[in-house]
Amino acid sequence: MTQRYSHWINGRAEAPASGEYLPTLIPATRQPGDEIARGNAEDAARAVAAASSAWRAWARQTTAERGEVLHRIAESITAHYDEFVELERAATGKTDAQLTFEIDTAVAYFRYYGGVVRTFAGRTIDAGGAAHTYTRLEPYGVVAIITPWNLPLNQSARAVAPAIAVGNAVILKPSEFTSITSVLLARLATEAGLPDGVLNVVTGTGAELGSALVADPAVRRIAFTGSVATGRALAAIAANRLIPATLELGGKSPVVVFADADMDRAVAAAVSGIQANSGQICSATTRLLVEESVHDEVVARVVERVSQLQPGPDFGPIITEAQYDKVLGYFDWAAGEGMTPAVGGAAYTSGPAAEGLFVQPTVYAGVAADSKLAQEEIFGPVLVTIPFTDEDDAVRIANNTEFGLVGAVWTRDVARGIRVAERIEAGQVSVNGGPLTVETPFGGYRNSGYGREKGIEAMHDYAQVKSVSISLLP
Ligand code: ADP
Repeated sequence: MTQRYSHWINGRAEAPASGEYLPTLIPATRQPGDEIARGNAEDAARAVAAASSAWRAWARQTTAERGEVLHRIAESITAHYDEFVELERAATGKTDAQLTFEIDTAVAYFRYYGGVVRTFAGRTIDAGGAAHTYTRLEPYGVVAIITPWNLPLNQSARAVAPAIAVGNAVILKPSEFTSITSVLLARLATEAGLPDGVLNVVTGTGAELGSALVADPAVRRIAFTGSVATGRALAAIAANRLIPATLELGGKSPVVVFADADMDRAVAAAVSGIQANSGQICSATTRLLVEESVHDEVVARVVERVSQLQPGPDFGPIITEAQYDKVLGYFDWAAGEGMTPAVGGAAYTSGPAAEGLFVQPTVYAGVAADSKLAQEEIFGPVLVTIPFTDEDDAVRIANNTEFGLVGAVWTRDVARGIRVAERIEAGQVSVNGGPLTVETPFGGYRNSGYGREKGIEAMHDYAQVKSVSISLLP
């Protein structure tokens, strides 16, 4: 029995103005999932009105008070952990490990920003004895957050937590494919004491709802995670409206493995680059660059492990039908070019995986660095390997991309690891598996976008600076 989910506006469930609901799909089985409100411009306007009335009082609370509410939201997500797991599992088919990671991280965002917001403050400026001058970090007011379908609750939490921590009110529009955990988040936030209107969630498509939301004159900032094409369109709207935007877009991130690397760990990391969320992560490391002398050996080890991965327990399906077709389109293109994958390269034709949108984890070995497979973001479990000759060659290939989201380097020569990390043109680089966490700022160079999420940098993106100067003249 499927359920219907309404919007969450001004602290309560609100039916869509259209009276209509949109179907969703369970990607692991292709069965119908729950239905979501089909939002339109009228719903966007209602949510914006709620946020507009709510943010000033919220912003006037102390950082300790706001932080406390964020902590209570974190506790509430934890208390409803299993519900989040099951809703997210239905919408995405993710593995237990991936679901646990994502929900834990969502909790961590609220805890982290609930704490660090208490240190978030302006500075005093020495203006001599005749004035007292200081800065304040003030919210924009009403912020529109638009998120994609690959890490649903996680990406909503990543943007919402810092935005509300600094005193904004938010209208969140999650992807129409994976909205339900965001609606639940908003309900729990209200129950946890977040004032009505500070977090509103409206559901529906980009064309009908998202575009109306970003065009609303009361929206003073946009945070978007998604495709380059939509990011570009939203950047144009933001430019025209003279409002700032954070854009977290695609990637084609390199993992660079030198011959002296800890191979067990490097191979495991290369496999997990396409296994985790079936490669549907903008920061997935999908270009494996290996030093020539060990290329074939490393590829053989990666291929062996990839060929053992089982659909279901080890990796989930592709989350949307359009994306499934897109990934299979790359396989067809490669076959047409005469490229044979070392493993994978097809959908499943039998067994339970054939019922869902599963594609085989795939490795194309020894691909030319400028091949379409090595240049375009496939957003599926597809790895290409490219040999390199030396450090300069590795850096050149790593940077031979329109993107610049993350990079990874594996070498026992730590100085070389740091040199290469500093030369990779990307927002986040990990050396020998160094962890990238809620504390580490995240965002793109080049076509991977601009602005930063995570870390205290995200709070700065959601705040604007005001200078205040008081004459001390008697
Ligand atoms: P994908 O193609 O991977 O679904 P999109 O970038 O199109 O990625 O979608 C990411 C998010 O952006 C989703 O929430 C989607 O509904 C929304 N979106 C898509 N087009 C627009 C648009 N023109 N205006 C606002 N939001 C949009």
